[in-house]
Amino acid sequence: MKSKRRTSKKDKKTPSPSEEPRPYLHPEYSKAKVIDLDIREIVRLPTGFEHDEWVGSTTLSFFNNINLLYGVLVHDYCNNESCPVMSAPNNVQYNWQDERGKKAKCTAPQYIEYAMTYSERQFKDETVFPTKYGQTFPSDFRSIIQRINRYFFHLLAHIYHSHFLHLTEHDLHRHLNSIFCHFMHFSVEFDLIDTKDTAVLEDLIEIMQLNCQEGSTASAAATDTDSSISGAVDPKRGSSPEQ
Ligand SMILES: [Zn+2]
Repeated sequence: MKSKRRTSKKDKKTPSPSEEPRPYLHPEYSKAKVIDLDIREIVRLPTGFEHDEWVGSTTLSFFNNINLLYGVLVHDYCNNESCPVMSAPNNVQYNWQDERGKKAKCTAPQYIEYAMTYSERQFKDETVFPTKYGQTFPSDFRSIIQRINRYFFHLLAHIYHSHFLHLTEHDLHRHLNSIFCHFMHFSVEFDLIDTKDTAVLEDLIEIMQLNCQEGSTASAAATDTDSSISGAVDPKRGSSPEQ
């Protein structure tokens, strides 16, 4: 069954997970950040804030920061020719699913555009992100936030996998590490991403001491809504041996 999910073309080109170059694991790089604060403390729900409001506004700030960082890579480094698939470490590929649930192969910049467009649409939707006094967050707010954060993780995983050295050329790897550190602490604090999703960067997570909680149910909750919300993802493993 496993071989059906792989293409022979991909197998020829793709190195085994143990052969993948992972410069982001070098201590010189993995320890480099632009901020050195107690991020665990920063992500916690501040007194007086509503839970959904805090989680939503923090997610929006990740959208802006990741968008800004990716803006450096798109065109010159991350284009349809350089990144024909949305790749991540361990030969993982993420495929996009349209609103009707149809899976489609797409390039990394296409996937990222779909993901960011989906996220931006949610942020601008008053029924999802209410801005007026007295309005409430919808009952499916958590699953939408989980989906958006999963997309952000995919994007960060792609950047680490395919563009880390590009960022070092601009001395922006420290920004990437800072965003990732903040993002992971936030995701763990509010149980937004499952360890199944974060497994592709577990070596980096370990080195950066961003260990996730065991037994998270975030992904299962988000997966339940895959067929009803547009932009669902289908993380297809390539030749990952355990799949
Ligand atoms: Zn790329």
